[in-house]
Amino acid sequence: MLEVKGLRKVYEGSDRRVEALRDLTFQVGKGELVCVVGPSGCGKTTLLKCVAGLLRPTDGTVTLGGTPVTGPRPGLAVVFQEYGRSLFPWMRVAQNVELPLRRRSSMSRGTRRERVADALDAVALGDVGRAYPWELSGGMQQRVAIARALAYEPEVLLMDEPFAAVDAQTRAELEDLARGLWRQRGMTVLFITHDIDEAVYLGERVLVLSASPTVVRADLAVELPLERDQLTTRADPRFTHLRSRVLELIRSAAARDRLRKDGPRTPGAGS
Ligand code: ADP
Ligand code: MG
Repeated sequence: MLEVKGLRKVYEGSDRRVEALRDLTFQVGKGELVCVVGPSGCGKTTLLKCVAGLLRPTDGTVTLGGTPVTGPRPGLAVVFQEYGRSLFPWMRVAQNVELPLRRRSSMSRGTRRERVADALDAVALGDVGRAYPWELSGGMQQRVAIARALAYEPEVLLMDEPFAAVDAQTRAELEDLARGLWRQRGMTVLFITHDIDEAVYLGERVLVLSASPTVVRADLAVELPLERDQLTTRADPRFTHLRSRVLELIRSAAARDRLRKDGPRTPGAGS
């Protein structure tokens, strides 16, 4: 479904050059839920933008359903971290959710309304369609953003740290909501997070990114049951084992990075 090959992105500024991604290669099968985890600043958003066709890679290719991605395309929806900035405050909730559908001229008004109602129901916000986003809590606003993506009925859903800005309880609820929707709707989901526990809890696979210069450190299968639960799953030895493994991978990458920057520290050196 999604194939990323030799992806590299260098931001060229007038006085600054940032190699955000060095060399990423991975594949995501149709209907899979894959989490990408990596430290802050390692290029996760850059990766997502390249996959969404919002940013042109310096090198390498992104292919979706067999065709190269060269710009934004139908069938793909994105949920960003900053729900506050992704919803229009002057539009009611239902109008926000309907907005991307309005560009489909072939879709009747009735169908649009149905899709919107269905998507709001799916995120348990069936009764707030007439409210304004700023009248809702942060968690509810993020659910509106998810509903907007769902109404569009994407084949591929990209999520960029969507729950990083909400409180822990809401976050747990949203994680379960995301998994539930993935299972019901059979979408292909690429979920990006800096949170190791979240990646292991949500994913069927976890791609671990190194710190910059960024490469894929590991591609791990999550061998947990399909049916997950915040209490039992997080206490499952398979869960704790995998999260330690991911933590180790990220730490060793960070340590190697420091070593490269500072040089090796041998006893007696520098005296
Ligand atoms: P993450 O999402 O993992 O925190 P980003 O993809 O946002 O990381 O950023 C990766 C690196 O690229 C950072 O060093 C960041 O400063 C840099 N970067 C991101 N966007 C730009 C840009 N538009 N111009 C220049 N540098 C950028
Ligand atoms: Mg980011």
